[in-house]
Amino acid sequence: MGPIQVALLLAFLLILFLAFLLWRRAMVGRAGTGLPKGQIVYSDMGQWEETSPLYAPRYALAGKPDYLLRIDRQTIPVEVKPSRRAPEPYAADTLQLAAYCLLVEETTGVRPAYGLLRYRDQTFQIPFDERLRQTLLATLHDMRRDLHQRDVARSHTEPVRCRLCGQRAHCEQRLD
Ligand code: SF4
Repeated sequence: MGPIQVALLLAFLLILFLAFLLWRRAMVGRAGTGLPKGQIVYSDMGQWEETSPLYAPRYALAGKPDYLLRIDRQTIPVEVKPSRRAPEPYAADTLQLAAYCLLVEETTGVRPAYGLLRYRDQTFQIPFDERLRQTLLATLHDMRRDLHQRDVARSHTEPVRCRLCGQRAHCEQRLD
């Protein structure tokens, strides 16, 4: 084998090795998210190309889910909270996921049966049923109404949320 053939063989082996490393990185990355099986059709996690937000003009709503998966001919939104541990989903996270379900419904014309909320140790499958949909619409309505209020009452009882809040220094409703 001449020097050119040796160089070509080495280049080929190097490309093969790099392809293996990329494949392995993708597999480990996916395993780290705890995502179920399903084709990833959208990701806002910076591993693929830049993504545009989903937009629903009818509800003046826009957002970027962490992933959209194609499962059983449905488009399923996924929200990942890698550092969160809780026995059940937080209400705010459920509403955020519901908003992504509504965006999928509006942009694809098909309402997803559920969304997936991934915490550090487990994944919750949250049905996007009529009850959750109506709760979301009512919450969006209240948020828009409150945008024009001078004073808005605290809507939670979570001291940790106040401890991390940037408005804490001058908020009269903070929890200690
Ligand atoms: S400090 Fe005030 S604004 Fe911040 S989370 Fe608490 S109640 Fe809300």
